[in-house]
Amino acid sequence: MRLHHQTPFVISTALSVHAGRTVGLKMEALQPSGSFKLRGVGHACETYRARGAQRFISSSGGNAGLAVAYAARALGVPAVIVVPETTSDRAQQLLRAEGAAVIVHGASWQEANAEAQALIGAADAFIHPFDDPLLWEGHASMIDEVAAEGFRPDAVIVSVGGGGLMVGVIRGLQRNGWGDVPVLAVETAGAASLAAAYAAEERVTLPAITSLATSLGAKQVCAEAFDLRHRHAITPVQVTDAQAVTACARFLDDHRILVEPACGAGLAVVYDMPERLADFARVLIIVCGGATMTAAQLAAWQQGVPS
Ligand SMILES: *Cc1c(COP(=O)(O)O)cnc(C)c1O
Repeated sequence: MRLHHQTPFVISTALSVHAGRTVGLKMEALQPSGSFKLRGVGHACETYRARGAQRFISSSGGNAGLAVAYAARALGVPAVIVVPETTSDRAQQLLRAEGAAVIVHGASWQEANAEAQALIGAADAFIHPFDDPLLWEGHASMIDEVAAEGFRPDAVIVSVGGGGLMVGVIRGLQRNGWGDVPVLAVETAGAASLAAAYAAEERVTLPAITSLATSLGAKQVCAEAFDLRHRHAITPVQVTDAQAVTACARFLDDHRILVEPACGAGLAVVYDMPERLADFARVLIIVCGGATMTAAQLAAWQQGVPS
């Protein structure tokens, strides 16, 4: 069984004309859970189920939790998602709509996660949002699909939170014989834990996340994302929150698909810094998605209203 969908791959006329080169889009926003997370989470949930797990536990109120809730329902396994009080009503509603039990606990994600960890029993599987080889294996399938389309990119643009997406994309590149295709690893300023780690040559922990791109808000990247810099060409790129939000609005007009700033960050490289792409004739962007985004939220952020 495969819980994720094969997503469209399209050459974007709008972005290609803007950037003066061919820009291909892998439309992960169209996964039924709203983001690419379903690839890795679906694969992890299926595997843990086959190993006997009778319940899935997550501490994500965002796209990872939604993917867990979706996968659990599809597999007929109960899911418990522990989220902090800061999780929006909309995110909680989306989780409950998938049939997950939602427990609201604590003021911060750290507290919610501690509660989730305390709940884990012998028959439960905890589904990590980014640090699990099973997730990376699932994410890698998006590159297999691009290869099947016959589009060999000269560079790939991915957003980076904890680094699971990037690790999976690089696995996919390497297993398709594209180990020499460089990756632009995009973060928003205020959530740039990969850039900080690469600059320090040490897996540093950011003191705080100050970006509105909450899906990129891992204070520390996973060890594999850090170590991979020796085995693949990875260039960290930073954009501002404003650039990420503006890119979401432009992408909505260009492709009629609403994504969150975590995804807008990658698009902003094409919209705002096409000079970063000067060496590449064919660029692939992972349009990673974002399920909790609304038109009203985008409008509010465009007007500078804090979330
Ligand atoms: C989770 C997520 C990311 C970041 O993925 P990591 O594996 O944490 O690096 C980027 N964009 C969206 C929409 C996400 O949900």
